[in-house]
Amino acid sequence: MLNFTVGPVMSDPEVLKIGAESSPYFRTPEFSKLMLENEQMMLRLLHAPQESRCVFLTTSGTGAMESMVMNILSDTDRVIVINGGSFGQRFADLCALHHRNYTQVPCTFGHQLKREQLKDLEDHTALLVNMHETSSGLLYDMEMISEFCKENGILLLVDAISAFLADELDIERLGAAAVITGSQKALAVQPGVSVVALAPAAVQRVEENPETCLYLSLKQALKNAERGQTPFTPAVTTLLQIHERLSSITKKGLDAEQKRIAQLAHTFRESIADLPFIAVPDDPSNAVTALRPFGGGAKEIVRILKDEYGIWVCPNGGEWADEVFRVGHIGYITDADIKCLTDALHDMKKRGLL
Ligand SMILES: *Cc1c(COP(=O)(O)O)cnc(C)c1O
Repeated sequence: MLNFTVGPVMSDPEVLKIGAESSPYFRTPEFSKLMLENEQMMLRLLHAPQESRCVFLTTSGTGAMESMVMNILSDTDRVIVINGGSFGQRFADLCALHHRNYTQVPCTFGHQLKREQLKDLEDHTALLVNMHETSSGLLYDMEMISEFCKENGILLLVDAISAFLADELDIERLGAAAVITGSQKALAVQPGVSVVALAPAAVQRVEENPETCLYLSLKQALKNAERGQTPFTPAVTTLLQIHERLSSITKKGLDAEQKRIAQLAHTFRESIADLPFIAVPDDPSNAVTALRPFGGGAKEIVRILKDEYGIWVCPNGGEWADEVFRVGHIGYITDADIKCLTDALHDMKKRGLL
């Protein structure tokens, strides 16, 4: 099956080779060295300021979102949650569950956030945003959000789970306190690990806040990471695969990887320009193209591609389930793979299925 979903995605042969081996024992100097390298490579790729730290949690991306809400935020914060889709909603749900004092800024699905929507929220202390709202494919105007946070001394916490490597992301430039990502998106290894990068302001928050959880405690994770370890048994194989990917990206250059993904997105968008789809977001991320078929029937398109052409694309959930489907551009995808998909879509048009 060709996989154009937004995760888990296809992995390169070197990563797959690692997955075929048994996991090694991990309380060893060798594994510690690898983890310390993972931390350093992540911090460099994110352009994190001096004294930043990065930890690897064995949990899906949502675990990293929850760890930020539990460990970096506290009872006294007044939190802004940008909510433009299912991942924004998840931050709102997490804030409610953990009794954070929060204000939602609702964004119409696929529409860009405007500065006016943040008016009167200057007195808040923290802002949670999914840099790329993966459900609609929208890439938020991070420059505007970053400026707003800087001007008002607001702690900026960024879910870049699907944006890391696909879109430009620079912690120092954004002035972000924390950025998270996950193993199964553009890192393109198996699912199971999420990554939390903390600038000094967030490290300080974690040190000062009371610990309210054990498994997702960033304080414990930070303490153990000083010696390249984790508090509990991690997804060892996934971490080895992350090391392989980070090393390879570091060697080729972050720019090369971002350009590769941007080029795949561009090629796909060009080759479907004549098909009866409306692009969903105002400003798309390079990671995903979210499409709205003129006549609806998104679910059926996803099914036919799977059953008749051997291609996975990503369905949407909730109220958009039959209106929108998404095509991912992350993972081990080639131009030939894209041609397979666009040929299939053109064939469906010929058959009167679009
Ligand atoms: C994939 C994703 C997540 C995490 O989802 P999990 O299923 O928990 O890994 C969170 N935020 C965004 C923006 C995502 O794309």
